Amino acid sequence: MAGKVDCEKLCPLWPCEDPSEFKGVWVVAEADENGIHEASLQMLTPARKIAEKLGSDVTGVLVGYNVKQYADEMIKYGADRVIVVDDPAFEMYAPDVYGDAVVQLAKKYKPEVILVAATMRGREMAPYIANTLRTGITADCTDFDVDEKTKDVLLIRPPFGAIMLAYIKTPLRRPQIGTARPNVFPLPPRDDSRTGEIVEEKVEPRKPRVRLVKRQIIPRSEVPIEKAEVIVSGGKGVGGPEGFKLLEELAKLLGGVVAGSRKAVDAGWIPHEKQVGQTGKSVKPILYIAVGISGAAQHMFGVREAGVVAAINIDPEAPIFKQADYGVVADYREVIPAMIELLKKAREKGSLEEVLAATKQT
Ligand SMILES: Cc1cc2nc3c(=O)[nH]c(=O)nc-3n(C[C@H](O)[C@H](O)[C@H](O)COP(=O)(O)OP(=O)(O)OC[C@H]3O[C@@H](n4cnc5c(N)ncnc54)[C@H](O)[C@@H]3O)c2cc1C
Repeated sequence: MAGKVDCEKLCPLWPCEDPSEFKGVWVVAEADENGIHEASLQMLTPARKIAEKLGSDVTGVLVGYNVKQYADEMIKYGADRVIVVDDPAFEMYAPDVYGDAVVQLAKKYKPEVILVAATMRGREMAPYIANTLRTGITADCTDFDVDEKTKDVLLIRPPFGAIMLAYIKTPLRRPQIGTARPNVFPLPPRDDSRTGEIVEEKVEPRKPRVRLVKRQIIPRSEVPIEKAEVIVSGGKGVGGPEGFKLLEELAKLLGGVVAGSRKAVDAGWIPHEKQVGQTGKSVKPILYIAVGISGAAQHMFGVREAGVVAAINIDPEAPIFKQADYGVVADYREVIPAMIELLKKAREKGSLEEVLAATKQT
């Protein structure tokens, strides 16, 4: 571990720290009136791995109003202790207000590692925490490990191309902060017999720099792609919004939702919240149907946890066929309407097998 001299060379304006004073792995969780975010519970999986390698323990951190009720949930999923700041002053979320509460706790308890799920809030809050604590942050990690010699945490993520992996360290500063996107790590097994300590804390809420003008809850008509069991995903090959209407029809018949590649998002055919991949979302459906998607590494990164991947592509050389479980080399404008027709008939008859048998006979 680097000493005081190295630290001063790094930045004379930042006070030197003694890394040996920092202990424990934190998961800063997100909770509101809808409960604790599943992505925060997923972060307990890498937290436990790091803690075991460091011979340390795992602490959950909950900041908000009416959030104490979720502390036990974090313990059941693997936290040894949960620090809770439950205060009406935190009823409205603001990144600097919540982030500052975590900063105050971190200054008091000195955790060695802080992990945050890269949800919308996590993406705002984690850099605020890192910057205020004058430490490093690695966003969108796909794995974490510990350097056996130095005991620094290795924050692992694909650099821009996703072809190799970068192993990033924060050797001179503490805490070491990393985020990971939802669904990159599995939910740890829930153990109802686990018990742990719940520590109630008070912090001084800072004045928010944003003012709430209006709060509007936008009703979701369908499940978000990260929770969908069936996804029909379209790429550049779909050719336009009209094509996406076909995909939508198929997705509905299969009880699923539509998603897309970055090129489809960039073309404005589908909103960004439905983008799958390295700069989109990671999904874990039972069935992923990729339509007019070439299968670039950055796209396939988001499909790692999918059960069955089926590809429809006009080009037999498309890289997606190397990774898909099933492939159809054809124009999707022929395949998808045929699938829709089959499924509609199956609905009428109540059996897909019967319709397929009749189709074979004709
Ligand atoms: C840092 C970085 C991050 C990125 N993050 C993401 C990300 O999160 N998600 C993502 O998706 N991409 C991402 N990309 C972009 C990625 O590299 C690819 O450019 C993108 O995934 C390609 O999208 P596509 O497959 O829709 O289009 P294309 O690569 O253009 O493929 C279109 C496919 O459609 C097929 N096709 C054409 N017409 C038909 C038809 N009628 N029927 C059937 N098939 C047809 C073609 O044969 C072709 O294979 C990222 C890139 C970088 C550099």
